[in-house]
Amino acid sequence: MKLKELLENNISKYGAYPFIYYKDQQYTNIETRSYADKIANGLHKLGVGKGDRVVVCMPNNPEVIFSYQGITRSGAVIVPIMFTLHPKEIQYIIKNCEAKVVIASSYTAENMKKAIEALEVKPILVVTDLPGSDDSLNLYDLMSSESADTEEDSDENGTAVILYTSGTTGNPKGVLLTHKNLYTNAVNSAAHNETERGVTIGVLPLAHVYGLTISNTCYITGSSVVVFARFDPEEIFKAIETYKVKAFSAVPAMIHAMVGSPKADHYDTSSLEWIGSGSAPLPIVLLNGFSKKFGAKVFEGYGLSEAAPIVTAHNKKIEIKPGSVGIPLPGVNIKIVDEQGSEVPAGEVGELIVSGDNVTPGYYQNREETNKVIKDGWLFTGDMARVDNEGYLYIVDRKKDLVIRGGFNVYPRDIEELLNAHDSVSEAAVLGVPDEAMGEEIVACVVKKAGSTATEDELIHYCQDNLAKNKTPKRIVFMETLPRNGVGKILKTRLRETAATIIT
Ligand code: ATP
Repeated sequence: MKLKELLENNISKYGAYPFIYYKDQQYTNIETRSYADKIANGLHKLGVGKGDRVVVCMPNNPEVIFSYQGITRSGAVIVPIMFTLHPKEIQYIIKNCEAKVVIASSYTAENMKKAIEALEVKPILVVTDLPGSDDSLNLYDLMSSESADTEEDSDENGTAVILYTSGTTGNPKGVLLTHKNLYTNAVNSAAHNETERGVTIGVLPLAHVYGLTISNTCYITGSSVVVFARFDPEEIFKAIETYKVKAFSAVPAMIHAMVGSPKADHYDTSSLEWIGSGSAPLPIVLLNGFSKKFGAKVFEGYGLSEAAPIVTAHNKKIEIKPGSVGIPLPGVNIKIVDEQGSEVPAGEVGELIVSGDNVTPGYYQNREETNKVIKDGWLFTGDMARVDNEGYLYIVDRKKDLVIRGGFNVYPRDIEELLNAHDSVSEAAVLGVPDEAMGEEIVACVVKKAGSTATEDELIHYCQDNLAKNKTPKRIVFMETLPRNGVGKILKTRLRETAATIIT
């Protein structure tokens, strides 16, 4: 099954219905197809054909969904870029994937121009909401151009999307996702969650693999999506009330903001049955806080771009185990292995490896990096994890975030959970910084709750009272906020640099 068939099947199964809600606009699934066809047509006119790469870089809006469908209908490959990236980062991706066309909005157009300026081979810039000019075309003008001959279609094992990793450990890598990878994951995730037809919320960036899956799942379940360009808890509460939203997916940073928002009481959010959380660890205190405040379940799951993305999740049929990321989706296999690649018994920590139709064939034009992570059909995730006797997965930490203090492995997650449970702590991130005596020392970066007077000594004593001695942070660094990426993940690399300068 190809991505364009998701929309075709949706229309033949469910007929016309409102597919996208955005601000005061509404678009049916039929209108979505019509815009997508016109975009495909316009792209063909620009010389885009099978396998060519087309970048889409803008905050969530209906045109992102039209463009994704348009690109896929033209036989080209979608390259989503987070609108938060710096022009230099954007430039790297455009150059690396040799994009023929870049679709932007007025919000990202200037950055796109800066990114394109220095390139020898320049892609054509298309902007959704600015008139055409010397250096760019308008998307709607492009849509109204005469029809062109359509190209031969790609097959289901052909690349549908190239998603660039955030590049925290070197240059970003382009994860190849086939039509089959994305389709399989959307179908299996809808089946796993028994997702009902209804209205969901699309507040995760559509440029991120979790966001991308939302629209794919809506095609399958005949659902509608309320699209948001940015996250504002009050707008989310309002949408839940207006559309009687039963379920949607979020990230821990959003759940944190919803739990802390006083505006929640002004809206009727009683329709909400569950919220999905993924992309980063969800502190247990937050899971409990959300359930208590909203009377809704929290289904934590785990995934990564290379698995298109969802690997495991909780669902309605199983008991929720706080701290766990649930059980594998149908068709997804997981194993925990040691350094030699041998499977370890239940309960033991090792690296999580994954196989299934959702797993990427590799990185774009990067055999070396592909060979490092895909071995004998298994994807090595770089995440340390364990599985309990009932098959629930627990992510212990990222391999690269492990702190080796005095020769002993310390996983920051345990310390973060403890600090997050302290009355004065709003959020905490724990990391290792270089230390002459111990190799690495543990530092906790903490954002205090408003009005809290907690001191560094107080929190260190709290850790000493509750943790093994070798896990107690040497320093607590108080911060106003923690640096995060576009999907709200804490940027530990950046924190590590800041923490190292503060404590030396
Ligand atoms: P990179 O630094 O490799 O570019 P990324 O964060 O940009 O990584 P993603 O594919 O967005 O790449 O994120 C996948 C990673 O997010 C997983 O490998 C895992 O470390 C983390 N993750 C996802 N869900 C969870 C979860 N529920 N609990 C803990 N970690 C999670």
